[in-house]
Amino acid sequence: MSTAIVWFRRDLRLTDHPALATALRQHTTIVPVYVHAPEEEAPWSLGGASAWWLHHSLTALAAALNERGAPLVIRRGASAAELEAVARDTGATAVYAVRTIEPAARARDQATDGALGRAGVALHWCSPNLFFTPGTVLNGSGAPFRVFTPFWRACRARFDEIEAPTPAPRRLQGLGGALTRLSVDALELLPKIAWDGGLASHFTPGEAAALNQLDAFVAGPARDYATQRDRPDLPGTSRLSAALHFGEISPRQVLASVRLQLGPRSLDAEPGFENFVREVGWREFAHHVLAAFPHTTDEPLDERFRGMAWGEDPALIRAWQRGRTGVPFVDAGMRELWHTGWMHNRVRMVVASFLTKNLGQHWRVGARWFHDTLVDADLASNSFGWQWAAGCGADAAPYYRIFNPILQAERFDPDRRYLRRWLPELAALPDEWIHRPHEAPGAVLATAKVALDRDYPRPVIELAASRDRALANYQAMKGEPAAAPRPAKRKASRGGQGTLL
Ligand code: FAD
Repeated sequence: MSTAIVWFRRDLRLTDHPALATALRQHTTIVPVYVHAPEEEAPWSLGGASAWWLHHSLTALAAALNERGAPLVIRRGASAAELEAVARDTGATAVYAVRTIEPAARARDQATDGALGRAGVALHWCSPNLFFTPGTVLNGSGAPFRVFTPFWRACRARFDEIEAPTPAPRRLQGLGGALTRLSVDALELLPKIAWDGGLASHFTPGEAAALNQLDAFVAGPARDYATQRDRPDLPGTSRLSAALHFGEISPRQVLASVRLQLGPRSLDAEPGFENFVREVGWREFAHHVLAAFPHTTDEPLDERFRGMAWGEDPALIRAWQRGRTGVPFVDAGMRELWHTGWMHNRVRMVVASFLTKNLGQHWRVGARWFHDTLVDADLASNSFGWQWAAGCGADAAPYYRIFNPILQAERFDPDRRYLRRWLPELAALPDEWIHRPHEAPGAVLATAKVALDRDYPRPVIELAASRDRALANYQAMKGEPAAAPRPAKRKASRGGQGTLL
């Protein structure tokens, strides 16, 4: 009979858990451990909204483990020291853990590996919460992909290798006794001032809720995902990002659920499902990119952007953070984020383009704010998303593609439901004006009882002029002469992602 520790980190589930499944094949007694050490992930330690999620997710995991007979041992302190202490106290000879790819977490894992090895405890690494281990999907020259389409083609060619998820164990043989363990509450993850009501009314953390959400989405909205995923006014996307980030479900489970729904039909024959799995592929890509280019949490992947003159204007940044820029589609998104801890992908792209290009502020400022306020804050996807929007990342939107938030609102919020939901002060304005109240005739504003400046700000910048400034800034970075300013287009091409200029 031997004892092993399963070290839980961002894999807060029991189903399809590679470390738990591997440990169970080798050992009879399992000691599940969670070590809270946010400083080990600095400078990207847990943000406030993520901490809220973690509290509830850990509570759910602890309950599930308790039910199965192996109570979760929660500790606070340095990971290596705490694991060593638990191994000593339990006689565990091995630790099993799911690989992480974030730079600070990798450094911690390496150090922990060394320390445990010196203490005579073997640390076994199991596959990460991805379809494929980073470093194993490479281009023809053996280098990491920088463009999504060929990356995803290479992944799809290997889909047959993806095994079926392993079921959760029904019973575990744990250790009772006098092990020191903290309660989840002792980690003080919940906010001291209760601002989390909006989060709780929109999300239920934990594995069981994630599985229900996955099943409900795949059985329903996923079918229309290809046509509805860009509509922030509709429940057209899965909202599984935080569950995937915290490892409450695995990408393999997402794929298995889709395959079950498809039956004998092929993924490619069903655009809704194909698009949905492909989006999970963007998550995969972001993680592979971060694993290959760890500096991209703080530095641009495209080296030319090191010379870009970004601004850092506290007043503009504050207006953006608070949803008071005077540009309704941007403000609606920022308020959705603040209230719920989540924002629709289309709107994330728009607010990120607006901050970096129209306001000219550094993408890192936006990434940091998202990191602190998103329940799904994920270093790989967030760095990737911000660099994509700023034009300096892998497969990035070319810098000169600047989203026009007015045209984006017209197209993706056609009935203005999203705007009315998050900007109640503008709700009485007619569809024609609610996404550009500063252009509305006085009589229209008076009828809707909207006084600009008092109820809602005028735009902090002029869209067309700020766009020209951004382009001139870009050309200066490239060492090219500035082009003559072009008038802003009111009606533009509607095709493609982010092509509305
Ligand atoms: P769905 O549309 O249902 O997609 C299914 C899953 O695929 C998502 O849960 C997510 O895991 C993954 N996914 C979808 N789109 C993307 C994408 N573009 N990049 C990476 N993964 C994707 N996602 C995060 O999980 N954490 C972040 O911190 C994050 N920051 C972002 C910052 C910016 C500036 C941008 C533009 C995007 C960011 N994204 C981030 C990606 C995306 O916006 C969210 O994953 C998505 O909105 C989550 O909603 P959903 O679960 O309903 O997605």
